[in-house]
Amino acid sequence: MARQLQNVLLADQPVADRLGRPLQTLRISVLDRCNFRCGYCMPEDALSGRQPFVPRRHWLSDCDLERVVRACVTLGVGKIRITGGEPLLRPGLVGLVERLAAIDGVRDIALTTNGVLLPQFAELLAGAGLNRITVSLDSLDPEVFHRMNGGKSSVAQVLHGIAAALQAGFDSLKINTVVERGVNDHTVMDLLSHFRGSGHAVRLIEFMDVGHSNRWSPDQVVPSREWVQRIHRRWPIEALEEPPLGRVARRYKYCDGAGEIGFISSISEPFCGGCDRARITADGRLYTCLFATRGHALAPLLQETGSAQALEARIGELWSRRGDRYSEQRHALGLIDTDDAEPKSQRVEMYRIGG
Ligand code: SAM
Ligand code: SF4
Ligand code: SF4
Repeated sequence: MARQLQNVLLADQPVADRLGRPLQTLRISVLDRCNFRCGYCMPEDALSGRQPFVPRRHWLSDCDLERVVRACVTLGVGKIRITGGEPLLRPGLVGLVERLAAIDGVRDIALTTNGVLLPQFAELLAGAGLNRITVSLDSLDPEVFHRMNGGKSSVAQVLHGIAAALQAGFDSLKINTVVERGVNDHTVMDLLSHFRGSGHAVRLIEFMDVGHSNRWSPDQVVPSREWVQRIHRRWPIEALEEPPLGRVARRYKYCDGAGEIGFISSISEPFCGGCDRARITADGRLYTCLFATRGHALAPLLQETGSAQALEARIGELWSRRGDRYSEQRHALGLIDTDDAEPKSQRVEMYRIGG
């Protein structure tokens, strides 16, 4: 039955990977710099003493990013997410969004941001054709939040950013909350209470072992099922039906009509089977998995002489060779910390690949 369903879903897809998964979503990390220093992503001390960022001269230009997106659209991509680092720090981001939103076949273009610069950009982004915004906010407790972002920002600033997005017409935001046991888990229920009934869906994200700087350990992960039970006791919730492909969050609705809540459970309930996402870094490396150790450089194909067909063929070839299912493998092996399975030190950092 599952295979029949998959065959139906794949019938119109130009390319599928070795596990039959189509390419439908592209996440673009437009730069790897950030005005925050979240401990789970870009801890300050992990950056010192080296050049951790891609030099700006190596960033793909807007024109080259547009060429990559056009190639991906031909291969089946309809959804784009702009991320980073902090994407709103990229000079000219509004123009880039406008270019990408105008591409025939791009059905949905979304942005993930820490929210602080939204008062400056929300209205311009709406005008440029951005469809959706996700704002990351880990706690409403001022001290906890300040500590988690490395002392760079305040809850008030992020709430101000959210208000600016609403003002600009982005009415149902997603709020991403990474939960770290012993760090912000005691503030999660308050955060949920704040956003219940607001039209914004909070997504609780299990702290992931992406990259190698964040000193991840399994004890810091709060499995989503703990939250489901806890939330259900306070505000009954009910699971929503999900499409098999492209699903990231497991979605629930509050039974009293106060909206939705999502759980991104990459550690405890991996979802590789429906993973339809390719990722590209600011310097044009294509990654077929968040936990990959190797990206594929597209820059050589973007030289003046490079044709659109060659680019499309290369991306198509990379996708059709893909067999990634890192989270599922770790889960199946019961290998919670995967140091033995793959050298962590070679994994791409979250702030470079963009989540
Ligand atoms: N700077 C933007 C932001 O924070 O929204 C966009 C880039 S950030 C890398 C994208 C998302 O990844 C954010 O929602 C962030 O909370 C999440 N993230 C970063 N590191 C993570 C980790 N180790 N585990 C789980 N989620 C993480
Ligand atoms: Fe910056 Fe986002 Fe990473 Fe925090 S999670 S350090 S805001 S890129
Ligand atoms: Fe996709 Fe890799 Fe994450 Fe699995 S581990 S869902 S293949 S990005």
